[in-house]
Amino acid sequence: MPDSPNYTSDSPETNSSTFMGCKLIRAFDADDIDVVISGIPWDQATTGRPGARFGPASIRNASANLAWELRRWPWDFSVFDVLGIIDWGDLSLDSAEKNQMSSEVQQYASQILQADKTMLTFGGDHYISYPLLREHAKKFGPVALIHFDAHTDTEREPDQHHHGTMFYHACNEGIIDCGRSVQIGIRTEYIREDHPFTVLDADWVLAHGAGDILDTVKRVVGDHPAYVSFDIDCLDPGFAPGTGTPVVGGLSTALALKVIRGLTGFNLIGMDIVEVSPPYDHADITSLAAATLGLEFLYVLAANRKENWK
Ligand code: MN
Ligand code: MN
Repeated sequence: MPDSPNYTSDSPETNSSTFMGCKLIRAFDADDIDVVISGIPWDQATTGRPGARFGPASIRNASANLAWELRRWPWDFSVFDVLGIIDWGDLSLDSAEKNQMSSEVQQYASQILQADKTMLTFGGDHYISYPLLREHAKKFGPVALIHFDAHTDTEREPDQHHHGTMFYHACNEGIIDCGRSVQIGIRTEYIREDHPFTVLDADWVLAHGAGDILDTVKRVVGDHPAYVSFDIDCLDPGFAPGTGTPVVGGLSTALALKVIRGLTGFNLIGMDIVEVSPPYDHADITSLAAATLGLEFLYVLAANRKENWK
């Protein structure tokens, strides 16, 4: 077990039901806290199969499989030696109160960001990214979105608010800098004329690999404050069956991990991982993928921190 105050347990059978066994702390003001992990168990904006409300708990459970490594392969340090990380737990949302969700998430995120902490958030359906982006934009200005998904989530529906429309609304609202944003793994219909994002579709991504993907992301995003939003259906259903709207022909978990790992040096301001729907999962494959992607993101944050210390 790592010699770190963050840890309380390190095995699936004894895990404390927090992410990576981090302490559950329902306050985030302490100076030694850098990252706040939270769950938003909400799936009322789902258009297909629901169940993403069970995502946060399942991702945390799956993370117990990862907690035994002192230094996660292939890194040469422990993330917990570099960053203060807590698991705040889940927001308690009334699923009958659809309109309240956004304001409650914004209120919560606002407090964390004002305290200068970075958020890693587990959904929930993808709509939860919208209130999170609003608060990040209040602090950082219009953000560059690094968006992994099978869908662009930009359906042009002025009066509809669901998990396929929020980036259309976010663009109109000016909280995303669309010209500096990239969508990775897209393989479903969208209006290509006037589409404001750079799209790296699944065929291109699978043909080119991580190096070319990262070169393009670097060119588009540059040093702009970048928020990573990872819809787990970016992965092929063979790697992530547990999701509401699966689309075949997607990325492998290995490729997605390589791309996340390659985000060192980017000006990363936060991440969410959404659309994990445990009722459709098998053997926790999808939850384990989400937990691993989240942990990899923490390592990237830590690597950036170490780089700045030099
Ligand atoms: Mn999707
Ligand atoms: Mn999505």
